[in-house]
Amino acid sequence: MTESGPLATKRCSNCGGEYLLAFFRHSGGGGRVDHSSDKRQLHRDRCIGCESTIERSEMLDRQLRRKATEARRRHGKRLQELGVIRKRDDLETVFGWSLDKMVDDIKRTIGEGCPYCTLPVVSEDDFGRVTLEILNPDHSPYYATNVRWCCSSCNAEKHRLSTDDWGARQTMWRRWRLNEARRESDPLAFAFLASNRHEEKTLPLW
Ligand SMILES: [Zn+2]
Ligand SMILES: [Zn+2]
Repeated sequence: MTESGPLATKRCSNCGGEYLLAFFRHSGGGGRVDHSSDKRQLHRDRCIGCESTIERSEMLDRQLRRKATEARRRHGKRLQELGVIRKRDDLETVFGWSLDKMVDDIKRTIGEGCPYCTLPVVSEDDFGRVTLEILNPDHSPYYATNVRWCCSSCNAEKHRLSTDDWGARQTMWRRWRLNEARRESDPLAFAFLASNRHEEKTLPLW
């Protein structure tokens, strides 16, 4: 480990990698750098790579917690008005709406896409499309069995459509995904799938 000069390095306390000092933020209040002391002391213990990743995941966590809190508050208010629960705290203490569990579930939905249409539920930093669905409003709002996170379109449409139409829609989503996969794996053989798309009729599929 070089102790001074432009090639001075430091080992990150988080990932263990050894990097040039430029890859560590300055510690302290951003005052003048004291050139006489060991420069490594003037830099933070974690490298910029690790700090950025940790900051980003903490920021995401805070945003998702806000979203979960807001969803629980909104549903609590509504369910209380409907007389389903006695007080808003019931959602957490009686029906298992734990914030940690909710945040985990939102994260999973962001990672895997909507459980119904499988389309992505986020764009950049917008989590607006992840919504909480009460599966059966006639049953008690137990989080483990009667709550699911899905995209806002599916959430709205599921409650608008009849059970039959919703069931048919689910099957067609599966068929559509299969067709997408087929076209991807063999564009020529499955070119007929795109033949009804007017604007693409004369274009090759790749
Ligand atoms: Zn690191
Ligand atoms: Zn969906």
